[in-house]
Order: sequence, then structure tokens, then C-alpha cells
Amino acid sequence: KGPDPDLVGIVERMATVKHKILVLSGKGGVGKSTFSAQLSFALAEMDCQVGLLDIDICGPSIPKMLGLEGQDIHQSNLGWSPVYVESNLGVMSIGFMLPNPDDAVIWRGPRKNGLIKQFLKDVDWGEIDYLVVDAPPGTSDEHISIVQYLQATGIDGAIIVTTPQQVSLIDVRKEINFCKKVGVPILGVVENMSGLRQIREASEVFDSSKGGAEKMCNEMGVPFLGKVPMDPQLCKAAEEGRSCFVDQKCSASAPALKSIVKKL
Ligand code: ADP
Repeated sequence: KGPDPDLVGIVERMATVKHKILVLSGKGGVGKSTFSAQLSFALAEMDCQVGLLDIDICGPSIPKMLGLEGQDIHQSNLGWSPVYVESNLGVMSIGFMLPNPDDAVIWRGPRKNGLIKQFLKDVDWGEIDYLVVDAPPGTSDEHISIVQYLQATGIDGAIIVTTPQQVSLIDVRKEINFCKKVGVPILGVVENMSGLRQIREASEVFDSSKGGAEKMCNEMGVPFLGKVPMDPQLCKAAEEGRSCFVDQKCSASAPALKSIVKKL
């Protein structure tokens, strides 16, 4: 049996992508897509060429978070063209393929796997510095597929997003162990929605009395990248599909996100 032609196609396509970063979370709703979106904006604002690939097939929120709702993908003789926010920030998501944003995608594993394969093989990213991959929460079929394919082409590693409380951290430990088991380097853990800054002091929103993500990182021997506070302005920027770095509105969260990006 010769080499898998899909894998050969993926390796060829990924040859023009310098760095590949997978963004993971144990649970949904912890801010993984928000982080992926703002990481992509930040890298693009640092003059990098960036691709953002959304493989959350059942719940694609990336088009909205990048301000690209209702856009379509086009095909050229080089493959599927990403939808561009700026000339150096291209996005690909199943969200662009749904006739109606409310349509449910009810697919079993092999079909999801097929689309992920196609995204990696057929999207014409061109020469890019970073491919940021926003994965669905958990460790399911999509994760096994993406890791298998990216490993064939070299993957820099995963960033894991969590909130401070134990119910989220329990799942993050599973995510860390998944990465260790399949051999994906962990670039670090981001603690999101970490406190709410009020006029005088930061208040805890979620119970982090057990030490939060930083303590867990120390226990599990993985890097801690930093905390991003709860910031209503960041939520607003995500709703409106904007970068949180361009004006001073997200003053509670943007500096924290920037310092995390600088550590990568
Ligand atoms: P996930 O991808 O983990 O499911 P999302 O990125 O969709 O989570 O975030 C869930 C919601 O929380 C979104 O409405 C988002 O704007 C909001 N959100 C994320 N991070 C923050 C934050 N630090 N402060 C305020 N709201 C946030």
C-alpha cells in the first residue's frame, strides 16, 4: 500500500505554512473562539500573514467573531480561497458554507473528518506565517483527525483555554493528557474570564480558591501563559467581529491578551 494520497496532499499544501497552532478547551463557553479570533487579529497586526481555520463543525462562531457573517468562499484553480478580513488575515469555516446560519450540521465522525481533511488539503492559504486552528471543545473525532494530519506536516503545539474554576479545570487536565498522549507540544494554558476588574479592585467571578489554572499548570508541568480578565468590552468586540487591540475600549483585556501573544 502506497502513501495516503490525502496525507501527501496535506503535506504539500501545508508546506507554505510556517507555524501551526491548535487552540483547544475542555469545555465550551470558556472563550476559546474569542481567544483564537483575537490571537489572529494580534498576529495580523504584528504584520504576520495569518490563516484562521475553524474546525468547530457543529458550532462555528469564527465567521461572526471576525465580522464575516454571510460571506461565501470562492474556488479558484488553486483551491478554496479563504475569506479575508485584511489582506494578511484569511479565514476558513464551515459557517461560510451553510445556506442559513441557523442550519444544524448533524454529521457523524467520518464526515467531519472528511471536511477537516479537505480544509487542510484544499484551502489556498498561500505563504503564511501562522495557521491558527480553532477546535471544538473536548477530545473527540475532530481532535484526533486534526492532530493526525497536522503532525504529518509538523505542528508547533496547542494553546489550551480555560476558566479558573474546578469544573473547567477538570476537563482541561483531560485535554492536557490528550496532548501528552498524542505527542502534541503544549505551548501553554490561558486562564480566561479570570476576575472582573471593578473601579477599585478585581473581584472573582468564578471560584478560584483552589488555585486556578496556574496551580494546575505547575502540577501538570505545562507552561502557564497568563490570565485574561472578564471584560464586557471584549465580549462586545467579539459580538461585533472586531479586534480588541485597535482602540482603547478593551483596556481590561487587551494588554493581557497582548502579553500572552508575545510569549508564543
Ligand atoms: P468557546 O469558544 O470556548 O465556546 P466563546 O469564545 O464563544 O467560547 O466565548 C463565549 C462567550 O463569552 C462569547 O460571548 C464571548 O464574547 C464571551 N467572552 C469570552 N471571553 C471573555 C472575556 N474575557 N470577557 C467577557 N466575555 C468573554
